[in-house]
Amino acid sequence: MSDSPGVGFVYDDRYLQHNPGTEVFWTERGPLPVPFVEPTLHPSNYRLVMRTKHLLDLTGLTSHLVRIEPRPATVEELTVFHTPEYVERVKQLSVKGSGDAGEHAPVGPGSYEIALLSAGGAISAVDAVMHGRVRRVFANCRPPGHHALADRGMGYCLFNNVVIAARHAQHAYGIKRVLILDWDVHHGNGTQEAFYADPSVLFVSLHQDGLYPDDMGLLRQTGAGEGAGTTINLPLPAGCGDAVYRAAFERIVLPIARAFCPELILISAGQDASVMDPEGRMCLSTNAYRWMTSALMDLAAETCEGRLVILQEGGYSELYAPYCTLGIIESLTGVRTNLPEPQDLRVLQRRPEIATIGPSADAALKEIESTHAPFWPALRGR
Ligand SMILES: [Zn+2]
Repeated sequence: MSDSPGVGFVYDDRYLQHNPGTEVFWTERGPLPVPFVEPTLHPSNYRLVMRTKHLLDLTGLTSHLVRIEPRPATVEELTVFHTPEYVERVKQLSVKGSGDAGEHAPVGPGSYEIALLSAGGAISAVDAVMHGRVRRVFANCRPPGHHALADRGMGYCLFNNVVIAARHAQHAYGIKRVLILDWDVHHGNGTQEAFYADPSVLFVSLHQDGLYPDDMGLLRQTGAGEGAGTTINLPLPAGCGDAVYRAAFERIVLPIARAFCPELILISAGQDASVMDPEGRMCLSTNAYRWMTSALMDLAAETCEGRLVILQEGGYSELYAPYCTLGIIESLTGVRTNLPEPQDLRVLQRRPEIATIGPSADAALKEIESTHAPFWPALRGR
């Protein structure tokens, strides 16, 4: 596939300024401070985005990218999903300099403006692809968005960047069918809520079964009303690695996505399903992120002239997650840096949890197939 007209990269140093504070212990009595003399940074700190940018510069990959400057989203753009009261609440907490915008959604000084720039980065990414300035984009933005609900923040997320980007593509460019693929290890509950009854957006989420949030991302949640069948949850048992994700793509995700025939593909890219992540218990190597990106690039080439926008969500291994993101951008650009990795890929790919499909994962894949087959003929007869 031709690299022309190139790969965009959304980034702004102001993304580093969103400060969710220090880590706390969540107990039945509420948050307690971590007792160590040296404070521990909040998991959703600036390091993933900063180190990703650093690796791109260090390897020279930056020279293969078209820099896209984000602009702040407007209140009108946010309120296609969020309530005006919620947007105002985030603004007030930000002025105050601290607070929680919902459930585990910390706001620091100036977080409102940075969250506007994060959502606006997603919009700028869509604009760059739709105008043909670039064919595909990685948006290295924060704070993340996929847990954010219409009226409250959740799970480190303030405004739902991917929902706002999808609605922008529909309203500004008349896009009729958007695929949102969410490979973050947690379930993208805010995104599911936004499009649960909406057949114009196919929401597909691969996540660790039973992780976060409670009772979301369940297999039986398949959409409602006119959106029946357009929510595809793939809850996978803890411990799944590259082989299971590849099988899930080949057997379920790609056949459904091809049948849906999107006009734009958005990815909620959380690199917290990696083998070294402290929040998840999945076992993906950097190669899985390379492969998933390539598979979605091929799908985009088949269905929508290559239009693909990838938005940064979670990723909490300060050492490994930036390399997973580097792998994604290697696939987007077609340039392999061969930078030595924290875990030797040749060793990783021999490990059974990464290279094989265990009995519980095999059973889960079969159940997922049979749940979605009534809506998607492409899955029948397997
Ligand atoms: Zn996550």
